[in-house]
Amino acid sequence: MKVHNVEMVISAVRPAQYPEDGLPEFALAGRSNVGKSSFINRMIGRKSMARISSKPGKTQTLNFYKIEEQLFFVDVPGYGYAKVSKSEREAWGKMIEQYFTSRPILKAVVLIVDIRHKPTVDDCMMYDFLKHYNIPVIVVATKADKIVKGKWDKHKKVVKDVLDMDPSDPLILFSSEKSMGMDIAWAEIEKRM
Ligand code: GDP
Repeated sequence: MKVHNVEMVISAVRPAQYPEDGLPEFALAGRSNVGKSSFINRMIGRKSMARISSKPGKTQTLNFYKIEEQLFFVDVPGYGYAKVSKSEREAWGKMIEQYFTSRPILKAVVLIVDIRHKPTVDDCMMYDFLKHYNIPVIVVATKADKIVKGKWDKHKKVVKDVLDMDPSDPLILFSSEKSMGMDIAWAEIEKRM
């Protein structure tokens, strides 16, 4: 998709605030600092619309970006940031669960992981949670520019194995730095709209 028009519609904390346009939604999830904002910005062709986090774990809202009047990206606050209090973590969990489990218009979750590292326990929990609720998952392994091309396949295999991925779920190699993987990511999103 060629993106010309993006509008940040609302930062929602509860269901009453979710948009009612009826457009398909794609949520973006990942641990803090994984490169989620960079992924969003790259996909929508903006330098800094999704805030590139200076304070990880601080955005406790669901941010709805309306794209080309056709779909929403829903930016989910990052998880796994150590300095978040127990009550904040619980509030996060409640908000995410509420959104993920009560939103038929949610077409898929793009789960972003770092190609360099083994997925974390939190990544595995998120993946299992989505599978449990039959929410389609698109896994994006970002920061591909940080490892040499010859090691991509090996690292992809680690991601697949550790998440215990369903072979029918896509795993897309991505780099926000090098604008790599965008067309494939858009194709996977568009075919689920
Ligand atoms: P978020 O907390 O998940 O939203 O992560 P950010 O998008 O803020 O990125 C965290 C850090 O990783 C920033 O310093 C980014 O510049 C860097 N980063 C994100 N994506 C990439 C990428 O594809 N390649 C490289 N080399 N760095 C990246």
